[in-house]
Amino acid sequence: MTAIDELPPLRDVIRRHELSAQKSLGQNFLLDLNLTARIARGSGPLEGAQVVEVGPGPGGLTRALLALGAARVVAIERDRRCVAALAEVADAYPGRLQVIEGDALKVDVHAYLEPGPVRVVANLPYNVATLLLVGWLSSDPWPPWFTSLTLMFQREVAERIVAAPGSKAYGRLAVLAGWRTQAKILFDVAPSAFVPPPKVTSSVVHLVPRPDPMPCRLADLERVTEAAFGQRRKMLRQSLKSLGVSAGELLERTGLPETERAEEIDVAGFVALARAFAEMRATPAG
Ligand code: SAM
Repeated sequence: MTAIDELPPLRDVIRRHELSAQKSLGQNFLLDLNLTARIARGSGPLEGAQVVEVGPGPGGLTRALLALGAARVVAIERDRRCVAALAEVADAYPGRLQVIEGDALKVDVHAYLEPGPVRVVANLPYNVATLLLVGWLSSDPWPPWFTSLTLMFQREVAERIVAAPGSKAYGRLAVLAGWRTQAKILFDVAPSAFVPPPKVTSSVVHLVPRPDPMPCRLADLERVTEAAFGQRRKMLRQSLKSLGVSAGELLERTGLPETERAEEIDVAGFVALARAFAEMRATPAG
């Protein structure tokens, strides 16, 4: 393995700072700097880029981002022990790494960003990974403040993000991700790559915001996907009844067959449903 920087091996960092992995914080560390460099490269050109990283841990991915030329990394970490370890990385890259101690679900990252494009790159803590992704995908205004998201998930979650209609994994997450971004799985990472190894395979997903998603309100899209996938085995004429408008008229307005099920409807179909739902609520039947 070739060294990407002059800093000590991550195993030494973990030993010196006593970073025994805590399950409650979703701590599965990547120690192979070739692998972290592969994830960093997957995010796109980093030269001069500003990066937000969630959960830098002992700093493997952080070091790769900096070594590959990121102008600035803003890293949010909940575990104080890791914050101390990251101070050494900050010293090696003066003025380029800012570590914020806190919960990424609560920190307002905008307060730390400089004007210009931002990439989000993270080996996410699995317990909050989907919540964080949904938060980023729900950004308002759109196009959002980031130019890409390059994120590690459990393989099963990655499949739900990129799923196509007709597949078992297709659901609300795939509709939201597909509506607002182009999402793809870059590569899988075996459990053995992590310390400690998780039980399941992981995947790196790359999402690029669509500059111009099909127009509809996020809240309306959420309502229709919630209703449709809440009863995914039922036909739409049944599952959409929970919306409180006539399901028959809703389907007629969109031209979707009322015998179809949620998993057969593509993103354009759900956008059409969301728009028709908004129209019907604006002009309630006589
Ligand atoms: N990036 C490191 C790596 O690849 O080795 C660590 C990844 S580990 C899967 C997840 C990291 O997220 C841990 O360092 C953990 O302490 C941190 N973390 C967990 N929950 C967090 C939260 N709510 N906000 C910020 N960081 C969190």
